[in-house]
Order: sequence, then structure tokens, then C-alpha cells
Amino acid sequence: MKTILADLHIHTALSPCASRQMLPRKIVHTCLDRGLTMIAICDHNSAANVSAVTEAARKESGEALKVVPGIEVTTREEVHVLGLFPALEGALAVGESILETLPGKRLTEEPSIPAAANPGNGQWILDWEGRRTATERHLLTAASGYSLEETVNLIHRHGGVAVAAHVDRRAFSVLGQLGFFPEIPRFFAGEISAAGVARMKRGELQIEEIRAHDLPLISGSDSHSPEEIACSCTAFQVTEPCFAELILAIQGIGSRRCCIA
Ligand SMILES: [Zn+2]
Ligand SMILES: [Zn+2]
Repeated sequence: MKTILADLHIHTALSPCASRQMLPRKIVHTCLDRGLTMIAICDHNSAANVSAVTEAARKESGEALKVVPGIEVTTREEVHVLGLFPALEGALAVGESILETLPGKRLTEEPSIPAAANPGNGQWILDWEGRRTATERHLLTAASGYSLEETVNLIHRHGGVAVAAHVDRRAFSVLGQLGFFPEIPRFFAGEISAAGVARMKRGELQIEEIRAHDLPLISGSDSHSPEEIACSCTAFQVTEPCFAELILAIQGIGSRRCCIA
């Protein structure tokens, strides 16, 4: 068994609210500098930049940094749900289904240009070196046509697990949007935000309603800029850094464990 640090909630420059510095190689190097072994890329309503970050990690770190394919879906109720997947195909398929319900057009293939030329945040789909390969024209921050239950089912259908994002926050969380934490759909875990972890350490965070659902708790940075990466993360005790072991550790199977770092 070894203990590794994972930040399972990182946005790239594809997310319209993220810094345009959130480029694949910058993300990889910042993660390595901060001692992370695993990360998940979870852009709003799309997984189109996961492969670029995965390739950057492989090229720049060898096996030192593993990338879990992910997505942060905005449900019809405006609840954020993280989908984490064993393989890229699952995340991409969920992204495709979600995109069909968002306002806007299909993405357009465009000439490759360096991301440094990005005047604002243009929802750019990138290659591993940070060059734009296409622009996503759907509005990625909009609520999708999928309800909370449909979103969780969609993630499951494609082999993923669904995590209730930033459960301690008022905005875009299950409790904040619904006013209660439902029995169905059943989440695999709940994520506490970085601010929530700070409040937890001061004994100020009230999450009895979430604890009552016996939900394993993890934390991710929800970073939208390089400075935020690993500001909150989860320590996993696993035999090796891979998706299957993360899943077992969240369930506490064998001597595997996870705890908010
Ligand atoms: Zn969110
Ligand atoms: Zn997020």
C-alpha cells in the first residue's frame, strides 16, 4: 500500500470561467510541483480537453501523473455533478449527450493557433501543447436538459461514478438547489470544496444531512487557475495509482482508505 495525493476536480481553459493559463502542460507541471499523483479533468459539460491533458501527462511526466477522465455536468436543476470514468470513451460519450441539450452550435474545426493568442476565454479545445484545434460553440456553463437523476444514470451507463460536487456550497450544489439531499439518485461520493474543508477544520461546517446518507467524502480543488491546483485534495491509500484502486479506496475495501488531505 502507498499513500498518494489526488485532486479530482480540475478545469482547463475549455471551461468559460477558467483562466486561459489552464493549458495541458501548465496543469501537468503545476500538479507535479504540488506532489499530486492523480488528477481528474472535469470541465463544465464537456470532456473534450481530457485527452490533451492525458497526453501532456504522458509526455511530460512518464508515469508520474495519472489523469482520470471526468466531466462536471450542470443538471436541469442547476446542480453540479462530477462524473469520473475508467476510460476516456465514457467521459466523451456523456459529454456528447449533454452537449446536444445545450444552447449553441456544434463545434467548428479551426486552424491550430497558440493558446497565448486567446483574447479571453473562447471555450478552446486544445492539443497537448496548448494549441487551439477547435472552438466549442455550445454555451458550456448553461444547464443541460438532463435532470439530476438522468445525469447520474447517464454517467453510470457509460461506466462512470457520480460525485455530488461541492456539497457544502450554496450555489450549484444538491442541497443548495434542491433544499434537501435525496435518497435517489444514489451518489458514489460527496465532494467538499476547499472553503468547506477550511470550515471543517475550524469545526464550523454543518454537513449532518450529508453524513446521514453515509456518503464517502472527498475533496478537490475545483481549480479554475493554476494557483488553485491542489489547494484541496484527497489522500488515497492504494496498491497503485489507478482508477480501479481509487474506487476501492473510496469504498474502504480491504486496507484501502481515503481521507480529505
Ligand atoms: Zn461546480
Ligand atoms: Zn468545477
